Amino acid sequence: MEQIQAIRGTRDILPDEVVYWQFLEKTAFDILSRACYQEIRTPVFEQTSLFERGIGEATDVVGKEMYTFMDRGDRTLTLRPEGTAGAVRAYIQNKLSAGGIQRLWYTGPMFRYERPQAGRQRQFHQIGLELLGVKAARADVEVIAIATDILKALGLQNLSLQLNSVGSGEDRQKYRDALVAYLIPYKDDLDQDSQDRLERNPLRILDSKDKKTQTIAENAPSILDYLGTESKAHFDQVCQLLTDLNIPYDLNPRLVRGLDYYTDTAFEIQSADLGAQATVCGGGRYDGLVSQLGGGEAPAIGWAMGMERLILLLKELQPLSLSSPDIYFVSRGQKAENKALVMAQNLRQMGYKVELDLTGSNFGKQFKRGDRTGAKICLVLGDSEVENNTIQLKYLETGKQETLSMDEINQRLQNL
Ligand code: ATP
Ligand code: MG
Repeated sequence: MEQIQAIRGTRDILPDEVVYWQFLEKTAFDILSRACYQEIRTPVFEQTSLFERGIGEATDVVGKEMYTFMDRGDRTLTLRPEGTAGAVRAYIQNKLSAGGIQRLWYTGPMFRYERPQAGRQRQFHQIGLELLGVKAARADVEVIAIATDILKALGLQNLSLQLNSVGSGEDRQKYRDALVAYLIPYKDDLDQDSQDRLERNPLRILDSKDKKTQTIAENAPSILDYLGTESKAHFDQVCQLLTDLNIPYDLNPRLVRGLDYYTDTAFEIQSADLGAQATVCGGGRYDGLVSQLGGGEAPAIGWAMGMERLILLLKELQPLSLSSPDIYFVSRGQKAENKALVMAQNLRQMGYKVELDLTGSNFGKQFKRGDRTGAKICLVLGDSEVENNTIQLKYLETGKQETLSMDEINQRLQNL
């Protein structure tokens, strides 16, 4: 029979890799909770129109990457390609704005139909945050600082913060005209995607991955020269506050982000150790999104990190392994095996981490397996121990073994 395989672009995360995920999650959750961000969990699928309106039809994500399907009730649904649209829908629908400023974070799988490669999958995971209801530059810098704190706590190095402002919608319109005017004479030299974008979404040409297009884009006008007074002041303040916090950054006027609802601050954190898929965190301000999705006016800023890319980096950094049991429980013979099951359960309830050997194989083989788990001690029950109401305790490092009464064993374990 043909074996069923996981779907292209998806991966199993096996137990020896899960330790890295748990380290990543715990580190991030600690830092988010110290900054008083609260977790929100939204559905994995939503109405397609949420993403069309919230991400923008001219984007790659909506244009060609969404997993969209009809359900049995003929509704058009989409597996979420990112977390912001769902979080903002929940913010509006649950009237969270009534509670003032909202600091939210989320994590979970996202789905995009892309060409799978290292650091790029069709089901991937993000951890992200959204700060809703604040316009001040301090908000921008708070969220950037949390991202850099997380990456620092993970021990990652060779990272750079790329910073830009895409200004207001009005600024962007002026800039867009200037950019198109600059690019038109080069039209035939641009890659095909970029030629198509010239009308629909010319700003995206700036982050084309095509070498020739990149060379042309290098001399394009800078959006930073097109910022209006307000956006300019906001951006200057962001830069100043980052400097105050000793967070280094590079100005990158070609950083425009793939999503349309961004205003003012845009940023990415890139790793020098990841090759082509270098961006581990992308974010920015999206003051227009809440009203675009039918909520009131609410300025907001957020970011999302690609967890697979962080895991690739973490694995290079330090080997993490599954934690060993405190006790490996060996038993043989029907009575002994049954008694061991009960004792193992009691020990777990007392707080010990106990692995019970269930193989029924001979003592020698069970001890060998116990050794491999890295447990410090083995508890051993055989028929004679059951008869005498005793148990053997074996120290796996030294091989030393002693016979204890059932009363002695608890005392002995506590001393370990
Ligand atoms: P890219 O330019 O790499 O496609 P993007 O601009 O589409 O990224 P965002 O929508 O900003 O990405 O998502 C935030 C982060 O999520 C990215 O910086 C990246 O780390 C991660 N990410 C995005 N798409 C994928 C994917 N298909 N597989 C794995 N991680 C991804
Ligand atoms: Mg993408």
